[in-house]
Amino acid sequence: MTSRELNAGRKLTRPGVQLRMSWLVRHPVRVAVMVGVILLTLLGILVWQQQQKNIEVERYQLLQQVSHHAASLEATIRTAVVVSESLRNEIILHPQQPLAELENRVDLLLKDYPLFRHIALAPDLIIRYVYPRAGNEAALGVNYRLIPEQYAAIEKAIALGGPLLAGPVKLVQGGSGLILRVPVFAGDKQLWGAIAAVIPLERLLQQTQLEQFREHYYLGLSGRDGEISNTELFWGDPVLQGLPSVYANIRLPNGHWRLHAFPKQRLPLMAGLPPLFLPIGLLLTLILTVGLYVLLRLSQERQLALQTVAWQASFDPLTGLANRSVLLGQLELMLKQARAQGGQLAVLSLDLDEFKQVNESLGHPVGDQLLQLVADRLLEQLTGPEMVARSGGDEFVLVVPEHGKPELVEQFCQTLLNAFHAPFMVNGTPLSISTSIGVAIYPNDGLLAIDLLKHADRAMYAAKHLGRNTFHFYDAGMQKEADHFVHLHHEIIKGIEQRQFFLMYQPIYDVVNQRFSKAEALVRWQHPERGLIPPFDFIPVAERTGAIRPLGEWILQQAIADMQLFSQMGLQLQISVNRSSQEFNQAKCADEWIAQLAAAGLTPEQLILEITESVFMDKVSVQQANVLSLHQQGVQLAIDDFGTGYSALNYLSRYPVDFIKIDKSFINLIAEQDKARALVAVLINMAKVLDVQVVAEGVESAEQFHVLQQLGCDFIQGYYFSRPLAKADLISVVQQPVRFR
Ligand code: C2E
Ligand code: CA
Ligand code: CA
Repeated sequence: MTSRELNAGRKLTRPGVQLRMSWLVRHPVRVAVMVGVILLTLLGILVWQQQQKNIEVERYQLLQQVSHHAASLEATIRTAVVVSESLRNEIILHPQQPLAELENRVDLLLKDYPLFRHIALAPDLIIRYVYPRAGNEAALGVNYRLIPEQYAAIEKAIALGGPLLAGPVKLVQGGSGLILRVPVFAGDKQLWGAIAAVIPLERLLQQTQLEQFREHYYLGLSGRDGEISNTELFWGDPVLQGLPSVYANIRLPNGHWRLHAFPKQRLPLMAGLPPLFLPIGLLLTLILTVGLYVLLRLSQERQLALQTVAWQASFDPLTGLANRSVLLGQLELMLKQARAQGGQLAVLSLDLDEFKQVNESLGHPVGDQLLQLVADRLLEQLTGPEMVARSGGDEFVLVVPEHGKPELVEQFCQTLLNAFHAPFMVNGTPLSISTSIGVAIYPNDGLLAIDLLKHADRAMYAAKHLGRNTFHFYDAGMQKEADHFVHLHHEIIKGIEQRQFFLMYQPIYDVVNQRFSKAEALVRWQHPERGLIPPFDFIPVAERTGAIRPLGEWILQQAIADMQLFSQMGLQLQISVNRSSQEFNQAKCADEWIAQLAAAGLTPEQLILEITESVFMDKVSVQQANVLSLHQQGVQLAIDDFGTGYSALNYLSRYPVDFIKIDKSFINLIAEQDKARALVAVLINMAKVLDVQVVAEGVESAEQFHVLQQLGCDFIQGYYFSRPLAKADLISVVQQPVRFR
C-alpha cells in the first residue's frame, strides 16, 4: 500500500479495494455474463457450422442427383440426335432412293424411340414426306424457304453442318416441343435438304423421370435454344428463380441447357447433431455460467472478508487512519527509501492539548467525533507523499518523507498548527482544541523507526511544556533528561519500599489566636548515596512519571499516622498536606482518604489539603469531583502558591476554598516596596470579601511579619518562626509559647 492509499483508507467504504483483488473476482456478474455469452456464441457457432455442413451435404447430394438427371436428359437427347442422324445417313447412302421407301425404316425407328412426335423430310427444303402422315398432312409441301423463322433456324443448322435443337416452342398441335433439325449433305457436301423432328417436351421429360424427381425438389430448365446465357426457365417451377439452386449442364448438339434444382424441404436445423444437443448445450451453458458466478461470488465474499480483516488490522476503526502497526511498517519502508537515496525524513508526533478534559467533561461520543474531525483536518493538510496515522488515544503521527530540512519542517508544523485555529463543529457546537507537535528527523535524531517515534514523542512533551499549541524539535538533551527521568522513577519506587522518605513539619502561626495552630508536612528524601534530596529535585519528576501516586499515598499515610500521634498527645494541630493534581485522578480517592482518617480516629476537619489553582483551571471533572467531595466531608482546602499560576481568580467564588497561601515571591519585598505591599493588600482584601483565610508563605523577617499583621493576614509561615522540623521538634515547638525574634 502506498502512503496515499493508507491515508485514503478511511475514505473507502470498508470493503474497498485496497488489497489487490482480481478483476474477475470484483465483477462476478459481468464475468458470468461474458462467459455465458461466449458459451452461447460457441454453441451458436457449433449449430451454425453443423447447418453449413448440412447445407453442403445437401447440395452435394442434390448436385449428384441433378447431374444424374441432367446426364439422363442429355443421353435421351443424344439418342434422338443419333436416331435422326441415322436417318440422315440412310439418305446420304441412298440419295436417289424414293422417300416412300424410307417408310419402313422410319416406322421402325420411331417405334423404338417413341420420343418424336413426327419427323419430316425436306429434300431441297420442301417437305415431301412426313411420318406419321395422319394428322400431319398439312405439313406436306411446306417450303422452308418461304417461312422466315423456320428458314433462319435451318440456315443456322446448315452453317453448323450438323444437328440443331431449337425450342422449346409452342406447337400448333398443342403443348410445347423441341425441334431437331438435321441438314443433309449428299455427295460432295451438296445440300440434299433437311430432316426436321419434333420432340414434345413432356415426352422428353417422361423419358428421364424428371417428374418423379420433382416430387421433392423444385426443378427448372433454362437455356432455350441451347443458349446457356438465357437464364429464363422454359420449364419447371418459377420459384426456383430466387433460390440458390443447384444446377448441372446438359450438352446439346448446339449449346447447353441447364437443369436447376432446389429441395422443397430443407433439412431440419439440428440435423446431424445429437438429438438433445441444443437443450443439453443450453443447460450446460446455464450451469457453467451460474456455477462460475457462484464461485466468483464466493471468492469475492471471501476476499472481502479477508479485506475487512486486513482493513481492521491496518486502520484505526474510529478515524480510518492507518494504525500504529501499519505506521511502523510504512515508516520502515520510507526509511529504507530515504537510506537508499541518502535523503532525510521527518517524523511528527502530534498530541491534542487538553483532549482528556473534552472527553471527560463532554463525554466519549463527543471526544470520538472530535478525533474524527481532527483526522479529517490532518488529512486535508497532506499534499504529497506524507502519511498520517493514529498512534493511540489523542496521538497522531505524520511522516514527511523527502524533506528533512528544518525550515521546511518548521513551515509544515506551522501549517498544521494553523489548521487547528478554526474550531471543530461537533453536533453543531464549535469546539476549539490545539495540538503540540514534536519532530524527530532521520538520520540526525535516529536511524530506526522505533527510535524516531520515541524521539518525536519526547520532543512533543517538550512542546507541551513550552505551553502547548507549539512544536519542538528533538535534541539529544531530551534523551538524557528522559533517561534521567526513567532512572529517577525507579529510584523513587525503590525509595518508598526502603523507607528513604520522611516528613518534616513547618509550624504555621495563627495571628488571631497567637499560637501555632497548623503545620505543613513537607517530604524529604534521604538517599543512600546522594544524601538529602529536596522535594524540588524529585516532586516534578514524580509528577511527570506517575511516581507521585505511590509517593503521595505514602505521604498521606505517614501524615495521618503522625496526626494520630499529635492528637493522642493532645496537640490542637491541623496538618496541611501537599497534593499534586494527578493524585486526584482516581475516581474514589476522596472516599479512600476520608476512610483512612476515620480508621486513625481522626476527623476530616483536622486535615488541610494544599492544592494548586490548576486543579480548578484544568476542568478535569474527576479531579474536581474528588476535591468537592473531600470538602463536603469536612476536609479543608488551601490554594498553594497563590498568585503564581493562571491568576484567574474567579474560581475562588465558585469553588469551596478555605485558605489561600500567598506565594513567597509576593512576600519577599513587602517590607521594602510599597507596590509589593499594595499587591498583597489587594490579595488579602479580596480573600476577605470571598470569606477565604490567608496564609503568607516564606516570611523570613520581623518586618515582613509586622506588615502582614497590619494587612490583616490570618496565618504566617516561614523561617521567621521556624524552619521545617522533625516530628519530635515540632511537638516541643508547638507545646512551648511562641518565640518572636
Ligand atoms: P511549598 O508547598 O510552597 O512549600 C513551601 C516550601 O517553602 C518548602 O520547601 C519550605 O521549606 C519552604 N519555606 C518555608 N518557609 C520558608 C522561608 O521563610 N524561606 C524560604 N526560602 N523557604 C521557605 P520544600 O520543603 O523544599 O518544598 C518545596 C516544594 O515541594 C513545596 O513547596 C511543595 O510544592 C513541594 N512539596 C513538599 N512536600 C511535598 C509533599 O509532601 N507532597 C507534594 N505533592 N509536594 C510537596
Ligand atoms: Ca505547600
Ligand atoms: Ca507554596
